[in-house]
Amino acid sequence: PATGETVLEVDAVERRFGGLVAVNKVSFNVKAGEIVGLIGPNGAGKSTMFNLITGTLSVSSGTVRFLGKDTRRLSQRQIAALGCARTFQHVKLRPAMSLLDNVVGGTYLRTQAGYIKSGLKLDREEEERARLEALMRLEQVGLAERAHDLAGDLPLGQQRVLEIARALALDPVLLILDEPAAGLRKKEKDALAALLRKLRDDGLTILIVEHDMDFVMNLVDRIVVMVFGQKLREGDPTTIRRDPAVQEAYLGG
Ligand code: ADP
Ligand code: MG
Repeated sequence: PATGETVLEVDAVERRFGGLVAVNKVSFNVKAGEIVGLIGPNGAGKSTMFNLITGTLSVSSGTVRFLGKDTRRLSQRQIAALGCARTFQHVKLRPAMSLLDNVVGGTYLRTQAGYIKSGLKLDREEEERARLEALMRLEQVGLAERAHDLAGDLPLGQQRVLEIARALALDPVLLILDEPAAGLRKKEKDALAALLRKLRDDGLTILIVEHDMDFVMNLVDRIVVMVFGQKLREGDPTTIRRDPAVQEAYLGG
């Protein structure tokens, strides 16, 4: 999609767990070429929203459209195959496999039908292509030199980056990250922010779901603030940071 076109449209989305309304009629858009931050205190409904967008959870009401398609009847894998790639809040890498093999695993998700193929054997040519592409993704994130090291030997900050390389193997339109800065040191956070900016400049659209307001502030173009399941505010980082209601929500949370 061209810059400025709507990639993701969240429209009056609601999710209930029994009597609890975890996400309460939330609407926002993400446009091509943007980095958008979805922030809020613990329990605000951010991860639930993330799971609704990626198809891990189904909406109780409202609509999520990705590239104009209503995702309600699509599986998680089908949504990913359309170009909506995700990472996990708790890193799900294979620690005993090389960085390269971890990223090759991400390329399997892309087939005509959009179904995962990891159970099937790739032929030699396909496998060679997958390895070359995985290496290119490692280069893109600055980890090519460690391609043959074991994923489990990486420090946490680089494991996060590897997880992103794995998501990029899908050749996504939108990358959506849940708390990418959690547990990282200041230097690792800075490196991650620089990488995400570079990926955006390479043409990727990014949605970051994040509790850490400082991490998001210097990185994103626009912020959506959730509190108690509802959208409290939406705006540019400077305006959001100064907003008394946002400050109070964070202090109270
Ligand atoms: P955040 O990611 O912003 O911290 P969550 O989306 O994880 O918030 O949680 C929002 C609310 O929904 C919380 O009150 C949480 O306890 C509740 N919740 C989340 N997932 C479930 C679930 N699977 N079953 C029941 N309640 C849930
Ligand atoms: Mg969360």
